[in-house]
Amino acid sequence: MSLPTEQVGSIPRPLELLDAIDRAQKGELSGSALAEAYDAALSDTITRLEATGSPVISDGEQSKPSFATYPLAGLESLSPDGVEIPFEDGHVRQLPAISEGPFRYQVYSESFLRPALEMAHVPVKQAVISASAMSLLYPPHGLEGYSQEQFNADVVNEVTRDIRGSLDAGAHNVQMDFTEGRLALKLDPSGGLLDAFIAINNAVFANFGPEDRPRLGVHTCPGGDHDSAHSSDVDYAGLLPALFGLDATNFYIQLASESDPDRVLGIIGENIRPGQRAFIGVIDPIDPEIESPELVRERILRAAQYIPLEQLGTTDDCGFSPFADDISTARDLAFAKIAARVEGTALAAAELGI
Ligand SMILES: [Zn+2]
Repeated sequence: MSLPTEQVGSIPRPLELLDAIDRAQKGELSGSALAEAYDAALSDTITRLEATGSPVISDGEQSKPSFATYPLAGLESLSPDGVEIPFEDGHVRQLPAISEGPFRYQVYSESFLRPALEMAHVPVKQAVISASAMSLLYPPHGLEGYSQEQFNADVVNEVTRDIRGSLDAGAHNVQMDFTEGRLALKLDPSGGLLDAFIAINNAVFANFGPEDRPRLGVHTCPGGDHDSAHSSDVDYAGLLPALFGLDATNFYIQLASESDPDRVLGIIGENIRPGQRAFIGVIDPIDPEIESPELVRERILRAAQYIPLEQLGTTDDCGFSPFADDISTARDLAFAKIAARVEGTALAAAELGI
């Protein structure tokens, strides 16, 4: 046995790909030339991820417009004035809102997974967006003839179909990106919104049986974009007990950038349920400095004081580029950090005798 280690998902796109996307949007590049640019980026990403020694990789989200909005690509019944997510450096990402029902995904995650599986030599994980994030697309003023309840039921069905498609296509596992968990406590300190988020995501997980459960996971973080976060000031103590109430097995938890990791590890140790695994963040994608394998090892040995070894794994705090146009973290740096995680995880496993 060794210590499982997995990335969260995204890798900064190559500049050639960003340039191709830009030219395609201006009508200067054909659809087939753009498809070639996506393929080249995916192939290079997989080759370089495999070179890090990662036992499990992702497609680096090279062809997702963003971790959150990929199901909406091409959807016409959208208005641009949805929920605003304020980041700590002052910039804002605004979600769209639906303008009519019924709500149906235009793109499912298996369309990203299948080409990656064809190219990869190691298992490939797949990230999907959460039902709770999609639930934010219902306009605050409501929609005539399409209630919030009808919409939520459609969301649960579509997220279930998204996960099922990737599981059936051969994903090593599927990770639900739940970056709005901590944000929920910022928007609603009473915890009511967080409870609603947990409930709708568990409604999705309830559609999967015990045979699927080991392949279901959740990622939490304070939301990284352009080297800033939206909810790192929200106390983990409010989120983690609810988080482990999600009926999933694998939890990918931002930790490297926490100011008091011992406290957070203690809360994880108290709340993790039997059969669940905590992949703790040992790499900070926002920090331009590359962590040494020795630092990674130290972080894991500390975590092992709080979390049983059979329930421990490692990850990065977040994806390296959740939005396609975010090139603030260089591509080379991302691969170097992932290599440090893999090496440091092996060092810790050896020291722990696993
Ligand atoms: Zn994240």
